[in-house]
Amino acid sequence: MKNIAVIGSGTMGNGIAHVFAQNGFEVSLIDINQDALNRAMATIEKNMDRQVSKGTLTEADKKKALSNLTTYTELSNVKKADLVIEAATENLTIKLDLFKQLDNLCQPSTILASNTSSISITKIAAVTKRPAQVIGMHFMNPVPVMKLVEVIRGYATSDAVTEQIMALSKTLGKIPVEVNDYPGFVANRILMPMINEAIITLFEGVAGVEEIDTVMKLGMAHPMGPLQLADFIGLDVCLSILNVLHDGFGNPKYAPCPLLVNMVEAGYKGVKTGEGFYQYTPGSKDLVVAPRFLKK
Ligand code: NAD
Repeated sequence: MKNIAVIGSGTMGNGIAHVFAQNGFEVSLIDINQDALNRAMATIEKNMDRQVSKGTLTEADKKKALSNLTTYTELSNVKKADLVIEAATENLTIKLDLFKQLDNLCQPSTILASNTSSISITKIAAVTKRPAQVIGMHFMNPVPVMKLVEVIRGYATSDAVTEQIMALSKTLGKIPVEVNDYPGFVANRILMPMINEAIITLFEGVAGVEEIDTVMKLGMAHPMGPLQLADFIGLDVCLSILNVLHDGFGNPKYAPCPLLVNMVEAGYKGVKTGEGFYQYTPGSKDLVVAPRFLKK
């Protein structure tokens, strides 16, 4: 594999493009939004500068990596890709439409991967004429830093394609883990119920925001408490993944906490909106509990 196309240049797409370009692949980064592409290139350069200042990348390798990257706003530029990794907005309609188009535009041998956090790979594969060549490559945020790639086999994904993607992930310096395609895969099936339980614990008044996060940080050696992590992921994203688990398994244990539902409906979605369980001020790194959760 030499040519990689990454669809979507947001948080995940720019990180995926960064890692492939740094490892010598030719990367076409495609987004419908030119501003998103400009922001992505600026982020990649800034993150590579950080690697240079840490001594983990040379200036010459940075230049080479950047020269491996080309940006486009037209999907038709996927034609020469050996592998396409879709990292567009987490929306079923957008993804199904993209995979139908990719199936028509790409060479018959091209593997189509999705970085989706929660949408069924089997469902995505079913809209293509190559379901054996459709697979999940679930990178973690921030992609250049996090080692894990959850490699998700759809119901029809072939052994050969799975092996190729596992091997490719290793050449990127990542550690791939093969999992089957069931709601939430492994990462979110375990993480989201923990976050939901932390919110239920708060909702029932068992403990406050700081107390819950401190117990999990100091007691379980988690680098971040579950409520802070929920704010970081986005409370709307957490809610939507819990709904996928709840609908997919039909088990009430996955029902999202009513407090989470209320917060999302009211627009308190965590870091991205400036308030969730904590309050975020641009430029400040202090962790401040949101006023409504302060003890009276
Ligand atoms: P994002 O909102 O930061 O970026 C999405 C990008 O996709 C935007 O720039 C948007 O313009 C672009 N886009 C939308 N429709 C498109 C189309 N038809 N063609 C081309 N580009 C299109 O989203 P993100 O956080 O980077 O998430 C992308 C994917 O990665 C989602 O499936 C998400 O579930 C998954 N994911 C996210 C995280 C995370 O922590 N953010 C972690 C793992 C997986």
